[in-house]
Amino acid sequence: MSSLYIHIPFCPRICPYCDFLKLYYFPDWGKRYAAKLAEEISAIPGLFDTIYLGGGTPTCLDLSDLSKVLSACQAHLKEGGEFSIEGNPESFSKRLCVQLALYGINRASIGAQSANPKTLQTLGRSHSFADATHAIANLRQAGISNLNLDLMYALPEESEAEVKEDALTFARLPITHLSAYSLILEENSVYGKKGVKEADEDTQANQFLAIKKALEKQGFHQYEVSSFAEPGYECRHNLNYWEDGYYAALGIGAAGYDEKGHYKNRIGLLDYFEHGSIRDYENESTQDQLETFLLTNLRLVKGFAVSEFIRRFGEDEWGKLRRKAQKDIDLGLLAIDQGRVYCTGKGLMLLDSVLLDLF
Ligand code: SF4
Repeated sequence: MSSLYIHIPFCPRICPYCDFLKLYYFPDWGKRYAAKLAEEISAIPGLFDTIYLGGGTPTCLDLSDLSKVLSACQAHLKEGGEFSIEGNPESFSKRLCVQLALYGINRASIGAQSANPKTLQTLGRSHSFADATHAIANLRQAGISNLNLDLMYALPEESEAEVKEDALTFARLPITHLSAYSLILEENSVYGKKGVKEADEDTQANQFLAIKKALEKQGFHQYEVSSFAEPGYECRHNLNYWEDGYYAALGIGAAGYDEKGHYKNRIGLLDYFEHGSIRDYENESTQDQLETFLLTNLRLVKGFAVSEFIRRFGEDEWGKLRRKAQKDIDLGLLAIDQGRVYCTGKGLMLLDSVLLDLF
C-alpha cells in the first residue's frame, strides 16, 4: 500500500484545546502554500493507493488554491484509490463539495465533535450541529458518501449520559465512520496553559464504553482504539499507518515514513515557500523500530501477525516479546491466538500500560 499525507496547516479560527501544527489563515499565505504544494505533488513519482489532505483545516483555502492541490493529487491517485479531505462542518458548502467531487475526493472527515451546543461552546467551536448535518447533506448530494465524523468526549463537566446521546445522534446520521477522541489538553494549548483539567481515567473509560455500546447498537464496529466503521468502510489511509506501512508526507510539520525510516518535515512557513518540504529523519535504533511497530499495530483490534513480527525483527526478539507479554495475557489485556497478537477490549483501553510492559 502506498500513501501520501499532505498537511495544510491553516485554520480560520484557533480552537483553545488544539495542540496540532496550525497557523491562522491568511489568504496570501494560503495561495503561496497551495502553489508550492501543487508543485511538490506534481514532482512526486508514481501513484498512491490513498491520499489524505489533513490539517489544520484544508477546506479553508480559497477554492482556486485548493483546486490546484486537488488537481495535482488527482493525477497521482491509483484507480479505485481512497482520496480524503478533512474540514470543519461550516466549510463544506455546496459549491465546495461539488468541486471536491469533481477532483475525485471520495471520503471526507468532518470535525463535528459534538451534537450538544453546550459541549461545542466548551470546545470553543464556531459551528453548530446543524452545520454538521448540512455538511453531510452537501457532501452526499455531490456524490461523496464515505463520511467520518469526529466525536470528542471526556470534557470537563460532561456526563456519561450526554456523551452517549452524542454518540447515538451521530451514529443515526448517514455516515460510514466515526472517530472518538478523549479531550487531551497538552501544555501548549490555550486550555492547557489556563490549567483546564481533563476528566479522570475512570470517567474517560466509562464514557468510552458508553460510546462503544451506542455505536455497536447502530451497526458500527470498533477496528482501532478510537475508530469505528460500518463494515467495509475502515479508513484505508489510516490502516496503512497502523499496519506500519510506508507513507510519504508533504507540507510543513508533516510526518512520513520510507525505507530510510521515519521523518518529519521542517515547520518554517517562509522556508517552505522557498524550498518546499525538507525532511529530517529520526535516528532510529532497531529497538525504536520495534516499539513503533508495536505502538501502531496494537492500536488495531486485529493486532499483528506473529509471522510479520518475526520477518521484521527475528525469532530472538519474538521470544523476548512472548515472555514480556505473559503478564498482560494473564491479566486479560493481551491475547495470542491463531498466529496473531492483539489487545483485548480491556487491553485497548489500557494500551499505554500494555505497551510499557512490552517495551
Ligand atoms: S482543532 Fe482543528 S480546527 Fe481547531 S485549531 Fe486545531 S487544527 Fe484548527
